[in-house]
Parts: sequence; structure tokens; C-alpha cells
Amino acid sequence: MAELQAVATTPGFVYRNGGLHFPGLGLWMDPSKPVRTGEWSVVTHAHADHTARHGAVLLTEPTRRLMRARVPGRRIEHVLDYSRVLRSGDLGEPSARAPFTLSFHPAGHILGSAMARVEHEGDSVLYTGDFKLRPGLSSERCEPVAARTLVMETTYGRPRYRFPPTAAVLEDIVRFCTTTLEQGATPVLLAYSLGKTQEVLSALCDPVLPIQLHPKAAEMTRIYADLGHRFPAWTPLDPESVRGHVVITPTLRPLLAEPGRTGPLRIASLSGWALDSRRASDLPGGQAHRRFPLSDHADFEDLLEFVRQVNPQRVFTLHGFAADFARVLRRQGVEARALSEDDRQLDLAL
Ligand SMILES: [Zn+2]
Repeated sequence: MAELQAVATTPGFVYRNGGLHFPGLGLWMDPSKPVRTGEWSVVTHAHADHTARHGAVLLTEPTRRLMRARVPGRRIEHVLDYSRVLRSGDLGEPSARAPFTLSFHPAGHILGSAMARVEHEGDSVLYTGDFKLRPGLSSERCEPVAARTLVMETTYGRPRYRFPPTAAVLEDIVRFCTTTLEQGATPVLLAYSLGKTQEVLSALCDPVLPIQLHPKAAEMTRIYADLGHRFPAWTPLDPESVRGHVVITPTLRPLLAEPGRTGPLRIASLSGWALDSRRASDLPGGQAHRRFPLSDHADFEDLLEFVRQVNPQRVFTLHGFAADFARVLRRQGVEARALSEDDRQLDLAL
């Protein structure tokens, strides 16, 4: 712990509840438990592990829309567009505890996902949330910005995780769908309802195939469409009429409940963990016929390139192979430390 205190940052933060807490500013980033303490919480994107029933949130407009659909309850919302600089004095209630500026920058993870850059007393911290550098079809392109301290997610922080180009993976998925339909079976794509569904759906416009979406995937897709994204036509999942369609769903449950009616199914799971046969049982489709490495996270090369572009003086790593990736950076002469290698709460500064 003494070692950790030696790397005091400005503004000071603590890793807590899966996110960052800047107690001196009255600001959180991505806490996974509700914050109702009269402090603001940045919500970088609307995935469940980055949201909770907070009292006051700072977020982009797409994240506001998606969060409203997923997290019930009333809360104070402050919407901030990418690259605009918010001065803490311009925040209403709750008021900040010390002056700071905050800006959001596209993270390239899902629609509306943002990295948050905080400046306080001339020093800066960039917190990535989930991100990827590879361009996708359904999210903004990632825009790294300089900061003195970088706090980054490192889900795939080992050299074995190098993803093929997204376009090639999507081509393989489309080919799997057309071939399966030609063979008289139903292709089922197991994918998260927010982000992954819209990415694969965007790729299914050529050739035009009949598509059915699970209700949760449909709800998220409608919000993307309201925000201006175009998708091929689809209909809601109906196990009785599923034959001859491509099905995109986060769960097999509705299909397995009607085994006689669906006809033969061929199941494909879409996840970066597809690269790792030892992790295959972790996939939502443990019984999948095919696995495609479609990921909305940075791979190992992306992580290294991202650090080069931000060019920070120190790096803190979070999630996944955080300790391994921090070690890789240290070998390259970068001051780096893992925040989430265990479940302890680590006090870093103050
Ligand atoms: Zn995410």
C-alpha cells in the first residue's frame, strides 16, 4: 500500500465499487453500486456493469436514452456532447466539491460510449471505460486524447488476444448465416442485446436475409434507429415462425422452450473469448456449433497502441488481465500498475 501511495495523482482517486471515486471533487466514474450521496456519477456507457440507480449522472445523449430503457428510477441527468468541456461550476445540484473540467471523447465500444477526461489544478486523468480502436459499423470511432494519468480497461491484456479485422469476422458470420439457411436450418447468433446485436445486424444488409430479434435486442435496436442508425428490416422473435430466419438473441431460452417448432438450429456465439478454447465453456453458448471472435473491446495490440497515443506519465489498469498488462507496460519502461488484480479497494492518492 505504501508503494501505491507513492504514485499520488492529481486529481486523487480511489478504485471502489468497480469504478473510480474522486472524493475531493464529489465525482465517480462507472461505479457498479448506486451512488446517492450527493455526488455526480459519470456513466461511460449503458452496459449493466457500468450503470446503477445513481442519484445524478453525467453521460452522452445515446447513453442517456439507452440507460433510461435499462435502469429504472428517476435521477438528475446532465448530458455532455463529445469534446465539449464542462466546467464543474456550470453543474447544478449536486454541486462539485472543488473546481474541475470534464470532457467526453468517443470510446468506440458501443453507441454513445465515452472516455472521460478530468482536469484539476492543471493535471489530468483519462478514464477509458470500455473501448476499442478497431472501427465498427455501429459505434463512433475511438478518439484517444492526451492525459498525464491514464486509467484503462485491459480485458484482453495478454498477447494471445489479437482479433482478426472486424470486416473479415462479419463476413464469416454472414456466410455462416446464408449457408445454414441454404441447408434448411435456422442460424442463431448469440449476442449481447446492446452493442453486439447492432454490429452484426448492420452487417446483415447484404445479402438481404430475413431476421428475427429477441425482445431485448429489439428494444435496444429501436433506440439506435431513433438516433439515426439504419438497419436491414427485422421482425420480433417468434419461435413458431422462426424457420428460414436469422435469429439474433442474447439467450437460447425462447427457442429451446419450443423444440418441435423451430426445426434444426445452428448456434453461433459472438465473443472475443472465441480465440481461447480454454474459455469456451464461459461463452453464453456453451453448446455453440460455431464461435466467431467479434468483440467490442480492445485487443492486445489495440491496448498497446492506445497507450502510445495517449502518451501518459503513468497508467493504471482495470478488468481482465490487468496485472499482466501492467507488467507488459513496465517492461517497456512505462510506469504502470493494476487496480483490479484483486478485490481490495486500493487507495491511490489524496
Ligand atoms: Zn461495455
